[in-house]
Amino acid sequence: MNEITVLDREFSVYITEDEIQSRITALAEKINEDLKGQDVLFFGVLNGVFLFAADIFRQINLDCQVSFIKLASYDGTSSTGKIKELIGWNEDITGKTVVVLEDIVDTGATLERVIGELKLRKAAEVKICTLLFKPEAYTKDIPIDYIGFEIPNNFVVGYGLDYDGYGRNLRAIYKLTK
Ligand code: 5GP
Repeated sequence: MNEITVLDREFSVYITEDEIQSRITALAEKINEDLKGQDVLFFGVLNGVFLFAADIFRQINLDCQVSFIKLASYDGTSSTGKIKELIGWNEDITGKTVVVLEDIVDTGATLERVIGELKLRKAAEVKICTLLFKPEAYTKDIPIDYIGFEIPNNFVVGYGLDYDGYGRNLRAIYKLTK
C-alpha cells in the first residue's frame, strides 16, 4: 500500500513499518545503555505518541514507569490567540529521571512547554526522545537526545500521527503528495 487517501488528501509511503520498528529497537538499546541503573519515568505527550510510546516502552529493560500528558488547545480571549494547556500531571516527578516521548518535534513549541513544566516540578534529569524531527521547522535551542528520523518540512500521517483525526492506525508513515 504505497499510495493512500486520508479524507481528501493523498499520501505516499515514506517510512515503512520495518524501518520504524528497527529504528525504535536502536533507540531503546541506546536509552537502556545510557540510563542503566536508573529509575526512569517515561512521559508521553498525547495524542500522536501512543503507538511509539507502546512500542519503545516494551523494549526498555530499566526500572521504569510510564505516564502521559495531553496538550489541550482552546481559543483564548486575549490577543495572544491560541493558548495551550497541559493536562494530566498526576505524577510527583521531584528528583526523577524523566524521558519525554514525542511523536514529532516540529517548531518545538510543545517541547518547550513540556520542558518548562518539568523544570518547575524539579525533575532531576530530563532526556528527550522523539520519533520524528523536522530540523528546518525547529525554532528552539533545546537539544534533543534521541531522534528516530530527521525529516523535511512535509506533512506526515500514520503510526499515531493524524490528518484531521484520521490516519493514526496506519502502520507506516506517509507523506502528503498533493
Ligand atoms: P510543535 O510545533 O509544537 O513542535 O509540534 C506541535 C504538534 O504539531 C505535534 O505534536 C504534532 O501533533 C503536530 N505536527 C507537526 N508536524 C506534523 C506532521 O507532519 N503531521 C502531523 N500529523 N502532525 C504534525
